[in-house]
Amino acid sequence: MSAGGKGGVPLLDPVAQYRRIAADVDARVRAVLAHGRFVHGPEVAEFEAALAGLTGAPEAVAVASGTDALVIALRGEGVGPGDAVFVPAFTFLSTAGAAALAGAAPVFVDVDPRTFAIDPDDLAERIRAVRREGGLRPRAVIAVDLFGLPADYDRLEPLCREEGLFLLADAAQSLGARRGGRGVGTMGDAAATSFFPSKPLGAYGDGGALLTADPGRARLWRSLRNHGTGDDPYDGLRIGTNSRLDTLQAAVLLAKLPHFPEEVRRRNEIARAYGEGLRDVAVTPEVPAGAESVWAQYSVLVDGRDRIRAGLEEAGIPSRVYYPIPVPRQKAFRGFAGGGAWPEADRLAARILSLPLHPELRDEDCARVVEAFRKAAGRGS
Ligand SMILES: *Cc1c(COP(=O)(O)O)cnc(C)c1O
Repeated sequence: MSAGGKGGVPLLDPVAQYRRIAADVDARVRAVLAHGRFVHGPEVAEFEAALAGLTGAPEAVAVASGTDALVIALRGEGVGPGDAVFVPAFTFLSTAGAAALAGAAPVFVDVDPRTFAIDPDDLAERIRAVRREGGLRPRAVIAVDLFGLPADYDRLEPLCREEGLFLLADAAQSLGARRGGRGVGTMGDAAATSFFPSKPLGAYGDGGALLTADPGRARLWRSLRNHGTGDDPYDGLRIGTNSRLDTLQAAVLLAKLPHFPEEVRRRNEIARAYGEGLRDVAVTPEVPAGAESVWAQYSVLVDGRDRIRAGLEEAGIPSRVYYPIPVPRQKAFRGFAGGGAWPEADRLAARILSLPLHPELRDEDCARVVEAFRKAAGRGS
């Protein structure tokens, strides 16, 4: 993940980011090494308060990963065997895996081809189908804010309320984003985010958090993340797990947090430059009116993807395909797929391509990405 050779552009550059903020990180980490409270030290509560401040969510609960955050949120609602959890067909494995880990059945929903998010019309249809078939009990929806853009919560919230379903935002890629005047963490009944190093706010290892306005939910999550205990650490009130955020990771995240808004601003600047440079040679992402993405990925749709990837590679520019196979077509999930069809997810999987986007990219890096892409698409200057 270091700078690509021969003047290449790195896909990510966590070390360059560290160099930029090293003084803050080092001071925070040294403080933890000095006090020695490596699990649930004071930095964890301090980080939770800071996260609540950043997102506007009244309650923030830190956990060990984004996947744990999703599972704990579902288990907190009592979701389990016999329950249907609706998830988009086009997402990272973890979204659907969390439903299965909670003991429920993921039911796959097609996505909106412009925003890549769960399609509310298809969702309504698949809820009706599950009720008609009668085998599973509809319980929850996990909407994914793919690539950093919040899903359409203004439509999802009333639908879930009407259907009596728990609406969980998989905000692993979207911390800091906004839509309809609201911040990520305040949409749906709860949000789960991740601090995996490649996410917009990345730790130096794994981490995650849950956000909500409901203090009862937050209290339950704090118990579930710590062996199901109550105020007394030897009171076993329920079956819980070990999903604590390390104090060292909380310290790193606290050091990074003050820099985060500026990084999001830079991510948007780069996305704008890509949009202007590529709009006539690829389907570039559109941000709906009233929304702000944090651009966890910059993903375009192209025909002849292999040829374009090869051209980029030749110019020292890495690219990635998120995601090449819709989740219901993956080996582990075929048993949940039934005879379903997800035509939009299939089309996206065949055409999508993600370009390097991180705050360390310089303007000249972006220009080189655009130039190499245009050349590979047969439209060089
Ligand atoms: C990264 C990611 C997750 C899982 O987060 P981890 O911290 O890696 O467990 C879940 N959902 C989506 C959409 C993700 O991108």
